[in-house]
Amino acid sequence: MLNEISQIKRPILGEEIPIVIFRAFRHFSANYTNDLIGERGANIIFQNAGRDLGKEVSLLIKDEKLDKYLENVQKFVRDAKIGIIIPVEVSHNHIILQLDECITCAGMPNIGKRICHFEVGFAAGLVESFMGKKVKAFESKCGANGEGICEVTLELNNV
Ligand SMILES: [Zn+2]
Repeated sequence: MLNEISQIKRPILGEEIPIVIFRAFRHFSANYTNDLIGERGANIIFQNAGRDLGKEVSLLIKDEKLDKYLENVQKFVRDAKIGIIIPVEVSHNHIILQLDECITCAGMPNIGKRICHFEVGFAAGLVESFMGKKVKAFESKCGANGEGICEVTLELNNV
């Protein structure tokens, strides 16, 4: 899908949009999905959609070594202005990545829940491609939950 959506023809409007527009599309979609099928199902849909994207992106930045691969991930995420990844822990059991300036939630007021399910899935897809197996992923901090930063915890041996 990345190939198709990357073909952009907007000679007048160009390729950039204000971030609030991205957020409006993103959050209105999430809220509507929550209303329609419930929060649990909606969260799974967004996480799995993010996972699929992560798997596609992994093909563009792949490397055989984990540290080099994670560097590529960091660079991609920063260049794409998704956020700024801060690795907190990389061990054989866990990968914990913080996402500062998160595209989805940085600066939002505390709405009392973690909402970056797409980003969680995106991180999981990136790591799953590298590992060649499924990993368990959850959001352990979120700017929309008053925690000041987004953080994804990936459990590598717990599926
Ligand atoms: Zn978040």
